Amino acid sequence: MHDTLPADMHLWHTLERTVKAVFASYGFSEIRIPVLEKTELFARAIGDATDVVEKEMYTFEDRNGDWLSLRPEGTAGVVRAVLQNGLLYAAPVRLWYIGPMFRRERPQKGRTRQFHQVGAEVFGAAGPDIDAELLAMCQRIWQLLGLNNIRLEVNSLGTSQERARYRENLYAFLNDNRDSLDADSLRRLERNPLRILDSKNSSVQELLRDAPVLADYLGEESVEHFDGFCSLLQSFDVPYQVNPRLVRGLDYYSHTVFEWITSDLGAQGTVCAGGRYDGLVEIQGGKPWPGVGFAMGQERLVELMREQSEPPHEVPHVYCVMVGAGAIDGGMKLAEQLRQGVKGLRIQSNLGGGSFKSQFKRADRSGAALAMVLGEDELQQRRVTIKHLRDRAGQEEISLDDVESWFQNYLRMLN
Ligand code: ATP
Ligand code: MG
Repeated sequence: MHDTLPADMHLWHTLERTVKAVFASYGFSEIRIPVLEKTELFARAIGDATDVVEKEMYTFEDRNGDWLSLRPEGTAGVVRAVLQNGLLYAAPVRLWYIGPMFRRERPQKGRTRQFHQVGAEVFGAAGPDIDAELLAMCQRIWQLLGLNNIRLEVNSLGTSQERARYRENLYAFLNDNRDSLDADSLRRLERNPLRILDSKNSSVQELLRDAPVLADYLGEESVEHFDGFCSLLQSFDVPYQVNPRLVRGLDYYSHTVFEWITSDLGAQGTVCAGGRYDGLVEIQGGKPWPGVGFAMGQERLVELMREQSEPPHEVPHVYCVMVGAGAIDGGMKLAEQLRQGVKGLRIQSNLGGGSFKSQFKRADRSGAALAMVLGEDELQQRRVTIKHLRDRAGQEEISLDDVESWFQNYLRMLN
């Protein structure tokens, strides 16, 4: 579990500001749900035989004997929340969320035990139009963040009946070829053979080349849904590849599944994943409302932003240098007045006194472009000295009456 340090904050803020604006432009509303839920919620929604529920959740018994888990993902909690709060009366409902998730995985690059997701969920829309709109929305987010080299893979998982029939045949095939399976795949074989399609083991992948393909088991309606989805992607100018082995790790998906993957982050290259989960609301005790959504991994996106397009770090515009008791009083007050009067101005006041020399050193370290200097002389003459720290523009003296308009003008010139 990592700390997010001040030097990285501008990346996180840029990401969060961007997704918020894009969600609003597609008519999505934010929902905030608890970090802790009953364990059974995740067991039922995500599936007992998934890695997440089997071995990755942080689970404990509280003082009442209730089993609780830190949320490993957002969808189950959002479904619970919309049912509990009666939000589906206005279906279709478009929601988004942001926040920490917890999975006890083996930590490695791009994989932490507390990570952060931005996600979207739409309830009450069964057609492929919304599936495609979600992906157009993701693409818009990548564009606004200046990210490229993220490819989209899509697949259809059909209905649960179609999948069950496929599962039987896949099981039979894999069971006949047990010798080629690794320990992990053998463990999955009995409980969840579809997960073997996801295996990273190369000899397993070799074997899978001859395995039955899910697409051959899809009925007419499923094929129609998937074709509709693909042609909408084309009309939205969202490039994609069909990956017939894409299955996703959680049990609740049906029909559309997708992943956005980059080769710029090494092995953990999936930055966003999701799909349709038409059975999930019913599993949680609601009517059979269809649902579809995705979750993006914020850590991986931040890493990609750093690789591809680092936005400027938000340093202060001005560092306020104040020497002498009177100057400190006057300077702190002046800084307050400027924050109030000059919208968007970022001022950092010097703390703990010190000589001009030591304060200028701190001003330099703060990254500010300007120092606003108040000493005894300035105080007496009711003026400040503005010193340019990053270029050779030197310094200028400004009467206290003009400081506010000087900074207003300064910001105008910057933008
Ligand atoms: P992976 O195949 O990488 O384990 P997943 O299928 O378990 O991903 P999802 O549950 O679909 O992931 O979560 C959506 C996104 O959240 C992932 O694509 C990834 O960007 C991010 N994510 C998932 N687990 C982690 C983690 N442990 N650390 C950092 N990011 C994560
Ligand atoms: Mg995972």
